[in-house]
Amino acid sequence: MKYCSFDIVFQEVPGEITLALNITNCPIHCKGCHSPHLWEDAGEVLDEEELRRLIDLYRGEVTCVCFMGGDADLKTIESLCRVAREEGVKTAWYTGRQAFPQSMPIEIWDYVKVGPYDEDLGGLRSRKTNQRFYRIEQGKMVDITERFWR
Ligand code: SF4
Repeated sequence: MKYCSFDIVFQEVPGEITLALNITNCPIHCKGCHSPHLWEDAGEVLDEEELRRLIDLYRGEVTCVCFMGGDADLKTIESLCRVAREEGVKTAWYTGRQAFPQSMPIEIWDYVKVGPYDEDLGGLRSRKTNQRFYRIEQGKMVDITERFWR
């Protein structure tokens, strides 16, 4: 699995300062995708060592790591999520899948966004959006999408 860039962001995960990693090789191919460059299998390898290095760079500054994508390689996303937890940060995943995959343990995540981008309905900041944003509380998905509408 590879990533092409990262950002420190404040709005993608409410209440968190987030290291957001832009994962490539996206298999979802939403019409109107804001980042079609993420469809290509390009960028740097994101493995355990690289993730620990990135978290170390911003230790004490970020409270959360968010994987933007990664839908093509669920096993790697799961294992990197566990690495981030070991490093003491919260974990978030923006998946473009229609539903949270049954093979993925929910309890390892603190936040998940589920749903492809639909250009007629808009992203999370649109009240019409099909996408849902959840906080995970004791293994339960609590829909907090409305936090993006304030
Ligand atoms: S999931 Fe995200 S990156 Fe992938 S095609 Fe849809 S909008 Fe683009």
